[in-house]
Amino acid sequence: MLLNDYHMEISLPACSPSAQTVIATVKLSDDIGAILPYLNSQVKGANFDPEGSILRFSHEGRAFTIHRDHVGIFKIANAGEARDAMDWLKAFVNETYERRTAIEPSYRRGVELNPLQIYKLLPGTNCKECGEATCFAFAARLLKEEIDVSACAPLFEDGYPEKREKLVTLLREAGRL
Ligand code: SF4
Repeated sequence: MLLNDYHMEISLPACSPSAQTVIATVKLSDDIGAILPYLNSQVKGANFDPEGSILRFSHEGRAFTIHRDHVGIFKIANAGEARDAMDWLKAFVNETYERRTAIEPSYRRGVELNPLQIYKLLPGTNCKECGEATCFAFAARLLKEEIDVSACAPLFEDGYPEKREKLVTLLREAGRL
């Protein structure tokens, strides 16, 4: 077993209450940096930074940002969901570790995002419904995973179907959804 235990803290995202999600910050008992390329080869749509030892991907609608000694879990409704997600990740890490000799590690980076790419796919009205002063500020915080895309309520209303579809696809390809 590589990952033995973890300690989780739950916080609310600093965004609109309409997001209805929490953020889990998880401190790991063990350094899992060496297994990240093996996890990267196992999941579709992952975004990997080999130098920084950061792996991002989504599983069953939950978004994971994995560092060598801590994990961020996003798009979860409450502490119970966060624990379920972390227990799944712990099992996935340990199963991958046990099978590592049979797995080809991958250093593929996946899709890199920047705030401008995201900004171009937002409504661009600077309406402040998300709690941010501008759409660009929202884009920057979305990139840093400090806010959920669902906090931009206008994007999910009628009027922006093309932008919404493109942004969701982009975030998914980058392992953010
Ligand atoms: S809610 Fe959406 S459209 Fe309004 S400011 Fe925020 S990102 Fe821009």
